Amino acid sequence: MKPPPPPYRDVTVGRLLTHLAEAIPDNEALVYSGRGLRLTFAELESETRLIARGMMAAGVERGERVALWATNVPEWVVLQFALAKIGAILVTVNTSLRAHEIDYLLRQSEAATVITISEFRDVNYIEVLREIGAVGSGKLPCLKRAIFIGRDEDEACPDGLMPYEKLRDLAAGVSEDDLLARESQIGPDDVINMQYTSGTTGFPKGVMLSSRNIVNNGYWLGLGLGYTTSDRLCLCVPLFHCFGCVIGVLGAYTHGVCLCAIEFFEARKVLETVERERCTSLYGVPTMFLAEMEDAEFSRFDLKSLRTGVMAGALCPESLMKRAISEMNLSEITIAYGLTEASPGITQTLRDDSIEQRTQTVGKVLPEMEVRIVEPGTSRPLETGEPGELCVRGYNVMKGYYNNPEATRAAIDDEGWLRTGDQATMDEKGYVRITGRIKDIIIRGGENISPKEIEDLLRLHPAISDAYVYAVKSEFFGEEVAAAVRLKPRAEATSDEIRKYCHDKISRFKIPKYVRFVGDFPMTASGKIQKFKLREEHEKEFKV
Ligand code: AMP
Repeated sequence: MKPPPPPYRDVTVGRLLTHLAEAIPDNEALVYSGRGLRLTFAELESETRLIARGMMAAGVERGERVALWATNVPEWVVLQFALAKIGAILVTVNTSLRAHEIDYLLRQSEAATVITISEFRDVNYIEVLREIGAVGSGKLPCLKRAIFIGRDEDEACPDGLMPYEKLRDLAAGVSEDDLLARESQIGPDDVINMQYTSGTTGFPKGVMLSSRNIVNNGYWLGLGLGYTTSDRLCLCVPLFHCFGCVIGVLGAYTHGVCLCAIEFFEARKVLETVERERCTSLYGVPTMFLAEMEDAEFSRFDLKSLRTGVMAGALCPESLMKRAISEMNLSEITIAYGLTEASPGITQTLRDDSIEQRTQTVGKVLPEMEVRIVEPGTSRPLETGEPGELCVRGYNVMKGYYNNPEATRAAIDDEGWLRTGDQATMDEKGYVRITGRIKDIIIRGGENISPKEIEDLLRLHPAISDAYVYAVKSEFFGEEVAAAVRLKPRAEATSDEIRKYCHDKISRFKIPKYVRFVGDFPMTASGKIQKFKLREEHEKEFKV
């Protein structure tokens, strides 16, 4: 038997897994080879139902917000489906948040439950939750319960939190019929997911998404990858972002694809997982693919099983796409473009597009949605080929920002068009090119400069591995162009040499006045460059 056929227009996230457990019960669904964990669709469904009943017994109501602050642990995927089954809203939380950011998120989302792990990188989550009064002090008025996911049975549950494992015992208090009754109340248009936009600028906003939004979006993106039930996806992008929980989990499961997950991104672990699990598909933001190919032992791994994947989330340099195709065997890799508010996918290249189309464009609009390019600041549609703001309308547009009608009205007009804030062109064949971000423009003495244009040029320099261009303040011009550059291993170059290289390739006013060499770029946990941080670093270094 096969997974349920499309359309998925009316399938809820909760029902999707039930369908899979009926159609392909014995197929592998979720693998964490590092932990020796392997679940079939039937096993994943039964684990999910148990946890769903446990959550109901703990008192989690339909429509209640449940914040999940954890790396890609196996419980994350279980909770994604369990919470959907009981109609609670999964609020995904970025793993790099600091105290004031999680405090803001828990308050703004009015979360009644927070589920967390002990720590990640240099942040002790439990200490942070204590510090903000989310555990032990009742300082957050809406928060009723905190649940702890231990790494293994030996990791003790900290005071003031309930162990996740206790949900199994609590489940005895809620019958399968009670769960079925709750499930029957949940429809495809109910909000079941909230994600806070990356926060590269301004205050993060909670994007409300329904099953219709994300199941369908996952389906179309997965179809674009030519997924069948024999495919295996190495899931290494964060689950708290759409890239992980929609393009990843739902893109795979709407086609019965197995997920081979790692708990957080590490280039070496990705290579090991692909080799060990014979993965056929791999996702990442451009910097992840770069890190994998720059791994010191890259050539020792057998990546022949790879076929397809998605590069997305930021501008995907042409040279990097070409390398991914030739060096990682990703002959059918696609580029996808979108944003959280659009569930997230809007465009995708086709597997059989020409190399040019797959490296120079972000593809065509996905089925069942409309795109138009308008004059920024107005809604006037532009002629084919003219750059303007990309707007999208269709099933995939978010339900709005949580508790923020003003921001919702600014983002979605009366006719349902969502403004993306991205500058794009569309050619006569429907291929879209992202030409910049409307907000990411450097204005130097009245001349508008697209950082992307300069970044593309710098990345072609033989000594440069990656580069980002940003604006710095200038008394005379208002803004000046600055570049942060990472050199390839063992390569050497000076700022003057790099400026000289630009000389005859771009107009003088576009040549970066400052070139800084960096080891790493400040990125959000979902892989977005934080240009405001580059600017801060710059100001420190040049003492301005
Ligand atoms: P997020 O909501 O965090 O997914 O961020 C969405 C933003 O990432 C978009 O508005 C774009 O600016 C950028 N983005 C996503 N995918 C691409 C892509 N393939 N090419 C260029 N920019 C992208």
